[in-house]
Amino acid sequence: MKSFADLGLAEPILRAVAAEGYTTPTPIQSAVIPVMMSGKDVLGIAQTGTGKTAAFVLPLLQRLVAVKQAGSTLMPKSCQALILAPTRELAAQILESIRGYGKFLHLSTALVVGGARAGPQIRALMPGGDILVATPGRLNDHLQSKHVRLDQTQAVVLDEADQMMDLGFMPQIRDLLARLPRQRQTLLFSATMPREIRGLADQFLNQPQEISVAPTAKPIERIEQSLVIVDAGKKPETLVALLADDAIDQAIVFVRTKHGADRVQQIVKQAGHYTVAIHADKTQGQRDRALAMFREGKIKILVATDIAARGIDVDGVSHIFNYDLPNIPEAYVHRIGRTARAGRSGHAISLCDRSEIGLALQIERLTGARLLPDAVRSARPPTRRPAGKSFGAKRAANDRVIPGGAKPASRRPTGSRGFSGGKRAA
Ligand code: AMP
Repeated sequence: MKSFADLGLAEPILRAVAAEGYTTPTPIQSAVIPVMMSGKDVLGIAQTGTGKTAAFVLPLLQRLVAVKQAGSTLMPKSCQALILAPTRELAAQILESIRGYGKFLHLSTALVVGGARAGPQIRALMPGGDILVATPGRLNDHLQSKHVRLDQTQAVVLDEADQMMDLGFMPQIRDLLARLPRQRQTLLFSATMPREIRGLADQFLNQPQEISVAPTAKPIERIEQSLVIVDAGKKPETLVALLADDAIDQAIVFVRTKHGADRVQQIVKQAGHYTVAIHADKTQGQRDRALAMFREGKIKILVATDIAARGIDVDGVSHIFNYDLPNIPEAYVHRIGRTARAGRSGHAISLCDRSEIGLALQIERLTGARLLPDAVRSARPPTRRPAGKSFGAKRAANDRVIPGGAKPASRRPTGSRGFSGGKRAA
């Protein structure tokens, strides 16, 4: 197996990787890093937990080292590399990774996300910088008002493209990509590969190398999954009873709607647990604080909607509870992927009422897991799924999932909002 040094990364990057405690590259890192370093475009099919962030950040840093050595100058309001992510939480986490892996490189980085004040972002964008991490909506606003330009940007990464699409960011992404120079490197990562994402790749990537390390719709095998059939009205007491289990270190309870999340938070609180809910109606500050406390272990139970919990990478999450089943079966895979991080095992327990049996069958079809009692399954033939079939769904049930090979790493949320840290290329 290759080491990070074998991959040809520069010494300050190797030092930072060693400081993170990584000894060997994960499969996606071994696959992506050489291709990216050769300058080719990459279409990566991978879920979080596989080490995909480092897979694109490390070669990106390597590229920036070379740019600096070549003495290239930066234009004001410009950036050398752009990373687009669906949510502000994921964007902040990517920035945190860049700061970790790039800590010996003196790069300037910036974060541009919705829900934060525009003024400080505009000031931070003004001088230009090395890496900009952004959510598409807010970046597009800054482009429209000419506070940022992308015509000098040499590399762009679209992370969790399927999620950006689900959030309705496709028009902004197309607009942003059209403003980048034709001569550039483009990387697109997505957990699933629906037709629209494939189309985006066809249009904006140049003969990409396709890299898929895991049948991404199939949950990691370290997660023990179970499903409880329960009357809708009995869900509150069932959840409370399940939460009393001493084996729970930390748990995320998923709820489909914002209202529902608030209600479930009250139920959990009344049962005597310290808990918070995160969803789209909470302010950025509230979400950041809640996540920071959860990460530090001060909150044991987090109640979340699908979108708010995207990309949450907290090693201590031992249990996922699905208070209700998601409408989209892929969301189930994303939900339960919040546990079994960093090489640990995890539990995913779903509450399913009669009205959700159809959803459970779709999840079974997508993941190959058998969740429902046999008697229930045979009483209901599975319904066909609409378009947007995932990659993993096509794969054989015995396909192996390569786990991320993660280490117990703690990640702090970042409060920083601008190009900062280190000297800029003069
Ligand atoms: P990601 O898939 O990028 O969200 O990464 C999942 C976790 O794996 C993070 O906690 C990383 O710090 C960790 N990680 C990434 N690469 C490695 C590696 N080569 N060895 C050990 N842990 C890693």
